[in-house]
Amino acid sequence: MSQCYFYPLTNVVKNYPWGSHSALNQRFHVSNPDDQPQAELWMGVHPAGISRVTLENGLLSLSDLITADKVAMLGAAAAKRFGDLPYLLKILAADSALSIQVHPQKEQAELGYAAQGDILSGTPDYNDANHKPELVYAITPFMAMNGFREPHEIIGHFKRLDIGGLRGAIKALEQHPDAEGLKAFFIEIMQLPDYVKKEALQRLADSAQKLYGDDLARFIQKLYQHYPNDTGVLAPLFLNCVTLQPGEAMFLHPGTLHAYVQGTAIEVMASSDNVLRAGLTGKKINLTELVTCTSFVPTLQQSLLMAPVLANGQSSYPIPVDDFRFSVIKDAGNLLMHTQSAEILLVINGRASLQHPSGETLTLITGQSVFIPASACDWALTVTGSLCRVYC
Ligand SMILES: [Zn+2]
Repeated sequence: MSQCYFYPLTNVVKNYPWGSHSALNQRFHVSNPDDQPQAELWMGVHPAGISRVTLENGLLSLSDLITADKVAMLGAAAAKRFGDLPYLLKILAADSALSIQVHPQKEQAELGYAAQGDILSGTPDYNDANHKPELVYAITPFMAMNGFREPHEIIGHFKRLDIGGLRGAIKALEQHPDAEGLKAFFIEIMQLPDYVKKEALQRLADSAQKLYGDDLARFIQKLYQHYPNDTGVLAPLFLNCVTLQPGEAMFLHPGTLHAYVQGTAIEVMASSDNVLRAGLTGKKINLTELVTCTSFVPTLQQSLLMAPVLANGQSSYPIPVDDFRFSVIKDAGNLLMHTQSAEILLVINGRASLQHPSGETLTLITGQSVFIPASACDWALTVTGSLCRVYC
């Protein structure tokens, strides 16, 4: 019988210094013979890490499979709208913090990418013309920062820090506790004279717990441990800090300053690599572009967690962009699935059996993933454990 609907994936591992040496290996059976820091596993067609599908006679790039018949693979609507797989699915395992960053809105990415023109010198600010909204779904307790705190909280935190060189900035924010004031405050923090920065970081290192309590101190200490000279260590004072519990998810809007600090999670994003960095990094920071792309409207802490909707055996997370959809299926027997776009399924834990009316079947275990083309239409799924589903 020919294989038409279920294509098991072989995925690309990214070894970044902040990655965990054990999480992907122990939890998802990703082999790690050289004890590398395994930061991310990529499932998709992004040029920096294209998955391959297993065919009866060998491996083929997922990109080539899709290009051979875009309408059958992506569905007519997505083929017309996106022309390729519009999303990238990752497992991410962070031992230390990733850079504080922001992703541009689509229009800013288009403008910025075009404006770079043919400049070949230096590192470009934009890698493509796409936006990069993200969803993060925690597998283990997952520490992250997401969006600006409200000005009164920021003022309180910095007053408690009590650094002479910061008083002017705090006073200005008190006089303008709005987006404009926050923008001016952020620019000032990003350009602190070295001696003020040193004094502030030293005081945080010495007194974070006394000043801010256990939860906030845990973030500060974690950042200080790896980046003792980086302004980013101040970020927990002005960004929302959250520890997602397993099964909880957050959406990262374009324009929202954020950072992943520690833990293992599933991440889904539009297929883009546009990152403007703001701290916790040795890479360049372009403050002008960063400020242009950042929204200085505070994010309410209570609005961070997404509330999934349970219907037809699936918990669907409400995604406010059309590049991808995300749902989680737990312990389900013979669930009828309806596929209308290119899908990727990843087994989070346990086992999944897929059965197509054509007679094609596939069984997957923890850490394994499959590409399912739009042309699969109706099929049946049995899950023992849990699995996530990305489509559009
Ligand atoms: Zn990000």
